[in-house]
Amino acid sequence: MAIGIGLDVGGTKVLGCAVTDAGEVVAEARLASPATKEALVDVLCACVEAVLADLGSPTSTVVGVGAGLPGLVDRAGVLHETANIHDVAGLDLPASLRPRLEGLLGSSAGPLVLVVDNDATCAAAGEHAFGAGQGVTDSITVTLGTGIGGGIVTAGSIVHGERNFAAEVGHMVVDPSGPRCGCGRRGCWERFASGTGLAYLARRAVLEGRAPGLAEAAGGIEALRAEQVVAAASAGDPEAAAVVGEYADYLALGLGNLAELLDPGRIILGGGLAAAGSVLFPPAIARYEATCRRGSGPRQVPVVTASLGERAGAIGAAVLALGVLG
Ligand SMILES: [Zn+2]
Repeated sequence: MAIGIGLDVGGTKVLGCAVTDAGEVVAEARLASPATKEALVDVLCACVEAVLADLGSPTSTVVGVGAGLPGLVDRAGVLHETANIHDVAGLDLPASLRPRLEGLLGSSAGPLVLVVDNDATCAAAGEHAFGAGQGVTDSITVTLGTGIGGGIVTAGSIVHGERNFAAEVGHMVVDPSGPRCGCGRRGCWERFASGTGLAYLARRAVLEGRAPGLAEAAGGIEALRAEQVVAAASAGDPEAAAVVGEYADYLALGLGNLAELLDPGRIILGGGLAAAGSVLFPPAIARYEATCRRGSGPRQVPVVTASLGERAGAIGAAVLALGVLG
């Protein structure tokens, strides 16, 4: 039995999982996220150490370590940009990690496999191998959180792209006259269909006089967050339900584009916003089925909710290190 250790660097925590090649999580650890690039290598190594302590068995079964980070990571594992940590461009994470990890893990199992990749790519690998993508050859995982990430598996292999920057689906433009995105353009999908996007749609509804009660309940328009919209919608508030309806339209728009582009066996919705999936996803999926060119018959690409929860990225980073996917 081979074990891979996967690390998922989030905005608040680094989650580490030891995962067998059958997909079983056999150890876990979590540490606070680093705020600087100098701390990044230390925290990743400390997380591996904590996972090994939780694992308790000989390290010789650990064949590889994978790490997923939010941002652009090239094929060599060199960071180009990472959310929450400034000034990472050019950081060769594998070069910094390898000697320290080989010190922790020993060399009895042969050369350590070390993979550093985008966090949504990792989540896609995890869901495809051991989650909601099991049983199909092609899947797209869309991670909905503060922004939107994506990962694509075709014919059982991760699609990396020429530069390893494939599947940045959050920056597909869905409205050229929409609000400005962090990438510098207007109307990217994540400006509408992420958690931040849901809050934007709610604030827009308030400004247009369509949701005065939402702003009042939140204590002002600036305090209005996605969680409040979700809570109000699930309590039956009609203003919130209308905002969720708009959100559903935008989520469905991007999903339809992805279905047309790649014809996957499934589109999997994950990320932090999936916790509110029972409120947000049914209207979005209904809208998607109603507007997608393929109708709701056998040509339709099913949209499903992710099944690995917050562990998807860490499990997927381990999957990449284990070489479970091509
Ligand atoms: Zn953008």
